[in-house]
Amino acid sequence: MTIVPVPHLDKLVVQHADLQPHLQALQAAGVSSHNVGQSLLGRDIVALKFGSGPHRVLAWSQMHGDESTATASLIDLATHLQTSPPDWLSQVTLMLVPMLNPDGAQRLSRYNAAGIDINRDALALASPEGKILNDLVSDFAPHWAFNLHDQDRWYRAGIDGLPATLSFLATAADPDRKVGETRSKAMALIGQLLQDMQIEQKVGVGRYSDEYNPRCFGDAIAAKDIAVILVECGFAPDDPARQEARRLTAEWLFFACEKIAIQQLSQDTTCYLSIPMNQDKGCADLVIENVQLAPDVLADVVIRGDKVDPHSDQRVIDDIGDYQHLHAYQRVDAAGMQPIPMLTYWIEQPLFLDDDTYRKLIDMGYIRFAGDRELLEVATFWPVDWRNSRVEPQAALCRGDKATMALGQDESIQLAIICGQVIPL
Ligand SMILES: [Zn+2]
Repeated sequence: MTIVPVPHLDKLVVQHADLQPHLQALQAAGVSSHNVGQSLLGRDIVALKFGSGPHRVLAWSQMHGDESTATASLIDLATHLQTSPPDWLSQVTLMLVPMLNPDGAQRLSRYNAAGIDINRDALALASPEGKILNDLVSDFAPHWAFNLHDQDRWYRAGIDGLPATLSFLATAADPDRKVGETRSKAMALIGQLLQDMQIEQKVGVGRYSDEYNPRCFGDAIAAKDIAVILVECGFAPDDPARQEARRLTAEWLFFACEKIAIQQLSQDTTCYLSIPMNQDKGCADLVIENVQLAPDVLADVVIRGDKVDPHSDQRVIDDIGDYQHLHAYQRVDAAGMQPIPMLTYWIEQPLFLDDDTYRKLIDMGYIRFAGDRELLEVATFWPVDWRNSRVEPQAALCRGDKATMALGQDESIQLAIICGQVIPL
């Protein structure tokens, strides 16, 4: 069984306008859909309904506006169910809500338009989006709830595993995280599908922390004795728009609904409990190994960038220390090299910046730019570290600083990193 991805949703962040043609196509094809409310800024939030059977499943995505992978999965699933409805569909009622936070999606933000984290609003219900989800749960009374998110690409499946392309959690229903009948059913379903779909043979799979937070929707819904499964779509190397996680999540949802429909559910939690725990900050964009920070002080420098866009040049020095064990999407060895204090090039006459000029400037000790930006013509694909004022040259590397530096021996530059990107000198 393959679920074909619909076109045009293979983006870093899917927005409300991206969704509309697909919703309209589904509606035109006869899929039951209704408006469940509006976001704070008046964008329609739509639920798609399939089947009319006794086992009710609710799935929603993108309550964090910048976490859109599973929105595409829901549209892929809906399109598949519409074009090739499986026999078991008569046994379930599925309610799919793609994109609960369209305002956040528009601003590429986690939060809603008032700055509220909808997933910490389950008790206060201050956000219209939180109220919508709360009402859906009350009115629809699902037996199963699938809470679909994205996790950043620093999560790793266990301390020595792959980047966590998918992570799962059978959400706890109380502060003691008791494993009662409902929660163990959720654990068993996760484990069963991992085995059936052989997901761990394809990508890194992590188990998400089950710390209980009553303000989170998953936890609040689980407290109503509903089986809640959190799915976190993550990164896979060379897959910036998370299409692997999108595809696997769509298929996972399909098989999960099938198991629920035919009631092929167990209570065996063994497989779930053997999933390695998600390791926060277990991966990095770039690790520069063995930098000589001072005489007799050797350390690795860890660089991470924008949470959503792996190609963004907003990268900073995130950690300094022993990071030999990290999974790095890129690693360079700086053995024998130390940071070299670098100057800011002040632009007051036209500068045509191609690779050659860039290399020459670096060689002369300039690594960032300030002054009159109008006079700079960029003719290189390398990033440009632009500053509003001159930055004092300094030999120290500091956490939180922009990842622009030169390393070498005796004032001779061997390695240049600009905005987190290694520059071939
Ligand atoms: Zn999230």
